[in-house]
Amino acid sequence: MKSIAIIGAGITGITTAYCLLKQGYQVTIFDKNRYPAMETSYANGGQLSASNAEVWNQASTILKGIRWLFNSQAPLLFNMKPSWHKLSWITEFISHIPHYEENTIQTVQLAIRARQSLIDWARIEQIDFDYRNQGILHIYRNATDFAHASRVTRLLARGGLIRQPVTAQDIRRIEPTLSGNFYGGFFTDSDSTGDIHKYTSGLAAACERLGATLIFNQQVQQLTCHPQQVTISSSDQYNAFEHHFDQLVICAGVASRHLAAQVGDRINIYPVKGYSITIPLLDTLS
Ligand SMILES: Cc1cc2nc3c(=O)[nH]c(=O)nc-3n(C[C@H](O)[C@H](O)[C@H](O)COP(=O)(O)OP(=O)(O)OC[C@H]3O[C@@H](n4cnc5c(N)ncnc54)[C@H](O)[C@@H]3O)c2cc1C
Repeated sequence: MKSIAIIGAGITGITTAYCLLKQGYQVTIFDKNRYPAMETSYANGGQLSASNAEVWNQASTILKGIRWLFNSQAPLLFNMKPSWHKLSWITEFISHIPHYEENTIQTVQLAIRARQSLIDWARIEQIDFDYRNQGILHIYRNATDFAHASRVTRLLARGGLIRQPVTAQDIRRIEPTLSGNFYGGFFTDSDSTGDIHKYTSGLAAACERLGATLIFNQQVQQLTCHPQQVTISSSDQYNAFEHHFDQLVICAGVASRHLAAQVGDRINIYPVKGYSITIPLLDTLS
C-alpha cells in the first residue's frame, strides 16, 4: 500500500486525505497547528456555492482594483510595494483574461461536483456543520450590475448551474430581513451554507477513524524528493523529525508556493488578507 503524506489540515488537505483513504492509501497528515482548520479554514463566508464560480480574470476587475487604490473604504486594499512574486502573479492573472469564459465554465463544473461531494461526505460521516439548504441570493442595486450578472448567469448555465432571476419583491420574500432599494437579483436554490471549521474538524475525525495518522504541532521545514521517496523534515517546539513517504500532496494554503518550490513545482499563489466576523444573534425573528 502506498504511503502518502499530506501537508496541511485545512479543508483542502482533509478532503484530499479522505479521498485517498477511500482509495486505500496509507495517509499521514501534518499541520503546524494544534487542531485541524485553524487558518483560512477556521472561518469563512460559509457558502457552499457554485453560483460564485465566475473567475476574477477580467478587465473590469483590474479597473475596479485601480479605483479601489484611491478609496479608503474599498473591500480590498493593495500594497503598492513591488516584489517579484507580486509582479509574476499579476502578470499571470492578466494573461488569463482571454480565458475568462472557458475558465468560468470549468470552474462552475468543478464547483458543482465539489459541492455535491461535500454534502455526500457530511451525510456518510454524520458531520454536524450547521448545514442549511436554503439557497443563495445575489442582490443588485442597479441595472448595470444586474446586466453583468445576467451575462454571468448564462455562462454558469453553460457549465450546468441554473439560477433564477428575482424581482425586488421576490428578494424581500426570500429574505424578509433585507431592507433597501434593489433592482433585482438571482437566486440559486441548489447552493447552501455551513460552518467550514466544524466540517473540516468532523471530516478529520472521520479520516482518523479510517486509519489516517494525524500529526499536529509539527511544522514542515524541508522537503526532499528522491526517485522513489520523499523525505519530510519537520520540527516541533523541542525536536526535529524526519519522515519518509512514497508520495506527497501539498495543501498548505498560502505556504504551498514556498514548499512546492523545494520539490521543483511552481504554484503561483499570492496571499491576500481576508476578513470575517462572527456575531452572536441573540434576538429572535418576530
Ligand atoms: C474572508 C474569506 C471568506 C471566504 N468565504 C468562502 C466561502 O464562503 N465559501 C468558500 O467556498 N470559500 C470561501 N473562502 C475560501 C476558503 O475559505 C479557502 O479557500 C479555504 O479555507 C482554503 O483552505 P486550505 O485548506 O487550502 O488552506 P488553509 O485552511 O489555510 O490550510 C492550510 C493548512 O496548512 C498548514 N500549514 C501551512 N504551512 C505548513 C507547514 N510548513 N507545516 C505544517 N503545516 C502547514 C496550516 O497550518 C493550515 O492549517 C473564503 C476565504 C476568506 C479569506
